Amino acid sequence: MDNISIKALAKINLGLDVTGIREDGYHQVRMIMQTVNLFDSLNISKNREKEIRLSTNLGFLPVNDDNLCVKAARLLLDEFSIKDGVDIKLTKHIPVAAGMAGGSSDAAAVLFGVNRIFRLGLSKKELMARGVKIGADVPYCLMRGTALAEGIGEELTVLDPMIKCPVLIAKPGISVSTKEVYQALDSCFDTVTHPDIDALILDIQNKDLKSLCSHMGNVLQEVTIPKHPIIADIKQNMVDNGALGAMMSGSGPTVFGFFEDMKTAREAKQKLTETGMVKQLYLTTIYNN
Ligand code: ATP
Repeated sequence: MDNISIKALAKINLGLDVTGIREDGYHQVRMIMQTVNLFDSLNISKNREKEIRLSTNLGFLPVNDDNLCVKAARLLLDEFSIKDGVDIKLTKHIPVAAGMAGGSSDAAAVLFGVNRIFRLGLSKKELMARGVKIGADVPYCLMRGTALAEGIGEELTVLDPMIKCPVLIAKPGISVSTKEVYQALDSCFDTVTHPDIDALILDIQNKDLKSLCSHMGNVLQEVTIPKHPIIADIKQNMVDNGALGAMMSGSGPTVFGFFEDMKTAREAKQKLTETGMVKQLYLTTIYNN
């Protein structure tokens, strides 16, 4: 096999809490990660020129070592002293810099693909151990499904699969820097309200979507929303149009909403389109392993 096509799936956070700040400045988190059926497409093929070449449909993305795809390929090619190179064709659909782990998922897909086409024989666990060197979310992106992420996001516990439902994903035309969001959180850390992650875990076990929606929370909203009130407006619009719950994912600005049925979700999508508030809008579903 000289060529492989892979889907790199996006994640949302059903809950995101920051429980402390380590001495090295990293934030300790407690997050519930959930994969959704929104994905980037990657095609990876061997080349004889020893080069890692990346092409993408988004002109503003780096195609050098700043791209997590290139970093992931280099990590395995170097470790195994592979003489060939790879051509990676990346078609992005996951909103960029949006709290959906798009870059991390692309890196996970490259680790998976390079392992396959060069028959390196690494297990998922072994790939995850290498993935964390690229980014804290990469091990989760290899694992997929419903999981509790602790530590700096790399300590993973598999949870029961979340109940399936339609998911509306909306990104306004603004950009948010993850680093700046965490820095802003530091200055108000003592006063933020923490989401009840344990209650969410119980809701997942009980397959109780309504209760889950009532417990969803993201501590980072408290710094992102005052700066970008459009996030609250999008959440409200989804709820007004039938979402059982709506929440910002990661450090934002993407908002997701859960619906009981596809018909309501489709109508909500139409209503949200009409407001002109969002730049990227997708109707998708929960992905379970
Ligand atoms: P997270 O949810 O992990 O915080 P994110 O959605 O906020 O991730 P990404 O979409 O992964 O952020 O990208 C953040 C930055 O990383 C972008 O500004 C981009 O320049 C850079 N980047 C590097 N590789 C990629 C990639 N393959 N896809 C998207 N962005 C990438």
